[in-house]
Parts: sequence; C-alpha cells; structure tokens
Amino acid sequence: MITAGRRSGSGFGDGTMRDFSTATYTVSAPGMRHCPPDSGREVAFAGRSNAGKSSTLNAITGRRGLARTGKTPGRTQALNFFALDEDTRLVDLPGFGFARVPEKMREAWRRTIDAYLRERRSLCGVVLVMDIRHPLKDFEQQMLTWCGEAGVPLHILLNKSDKLSRGQVARVERMLEQAIAGQPDCTVQAFSALRRTGLEAARLRISELLDGGP
Ligand code: GDP
Repeated sequence: MITAGRRSGSGFGDGTMRDFSTATYTVSAPGMRHCPPDSGREVAFAGRSNAGKSSTLNAITGRRGLARTGKTPGRTQALNFFALDEDTRLVDLPGFGFARVPEKMREAWRRTIDAYLRERRSLCGVVLVMDIRHPLKDFEQQMLTWCGEAGVPLHILLNKSDKLSRGQVARVERMLEQAIAGQPDCTVQAFSALRRTGLEAARLRISELLDGGP
C-alpha cells in the first residue's frame, strides 16, 4: 500500500546541513513489527554486500565504528536503526549479494525490504550505495523500481569513485543519469567513502530528504 503524507515531494528543505555525528545505534529489527514507532522522519541506506554501505554510513556520520553494528552476527538480516535525535533516524537495510546466502533467505529479505519501503510512513528517502565499477545490477534495478512504485525519493551514491579515472567516473555518472531520467525524485552523484569525495554533497542531500516537507 502506498501511504499518503510521508513523501517529501519536491519540496526540499532550506539547505541546512544536519549534524550526523549524533547517530546512535538504537535497535535491530528483523521485521516490520520490530521497528521503532513509525513517527518522525528517517532515511534508509541500501546496497549490495561489499558496495561500501557500512563505510558510507561511517563517513556520513563521521563515526568510524558505527555501521560495524550492522555486521554483527544476527544483525545482518535486520533493519538497523540509528537515531540522530528523537525525531530523525538513519536506517541500515540488510545487504544483498552474498553468493552463499540461500535463495529462500534472499527472498525473505526481499519481502522485508519491500514491506518496509511500501509501508513505512516515516521513510522519506533511500540512499542506494553502488560500486561505481558495477552499477545497476539486478538488486539495484529492483530498488529503483520499488522506490518509484512506493513514491520514495532515491539518492544514488556511486561509491569507490577513487578506483576510476575522472573520465570514467563522468561516463558512469552520465549513464546513470540517463537510466534514472524517467524516475521522479531520483538523484545520483559520484562518491568515495574511502577518500571522502562527495561527502558534503551527500550529507546535504540526506539533510534535504530529512528536512523536506510536508
Ligand atoms: P558493505 O558490505 O557494503 O557494508 O561494504 P564495506 O563498507 O564493508 O566495504 C567493502 C569493502 O570495500 C571494504 O574492503 C572497504 O574498505 C572497501 N571500500 C568501501 N568504500 C570504499 C571506497 O570508497 N573506495 C575504495 N577503494 N574501497 C572502499
């Protein structure tokens, strides 16, 4: 079900940067009913395993050990919540792509993410972390479709841009811009969690998503 009233639409904030350093782990939710109360606003981070989602969360918050929490056994298949303040949260969504994970388990993750994207009213944006060298694989295409259908704004980080030349980075950026051209509320940027390239732009976009009305 697509819920009214949670979207930020195109009315983004006034450009004020959030303080992400306050991020504090609160809870790991294996399913929707274990999530914290669905009030306030949150931005979720998604990505295939190894794309650099944890490194990105650590870079955004400036908290080096933060997203290790999401790799603790038992939490890899959960939605991990980090509070910024009492009204706003960042959420680390379970990763995809480990070849050794049985298909049945992957299907369960898909269902959890699908339900979360469709039903979570406080969700006001998704940050999709991709490896710039391997963009738009199946899961990532699926995320684009899900977010489009659920009306959730999406920001794509083409991570590990330090691995490519400037020309190659620009080429992938252009390719992605074309791929998302038809999708409303979807933006893309090059990023490197390692070198902190594009960090301020990413923080600004996430701040906009968190502050966007109504
Ligand atoms: P996750 O599985 O998506 O959470 O990925 P991690 O954050 O654990 O990163 C996976 C691997 O990619 C690690 O070896 C990181 O050091 C590396 N990595 C993450 N971000 C970058 C980046 O921006 N540049 C480079 N070169 N390596 C990165």
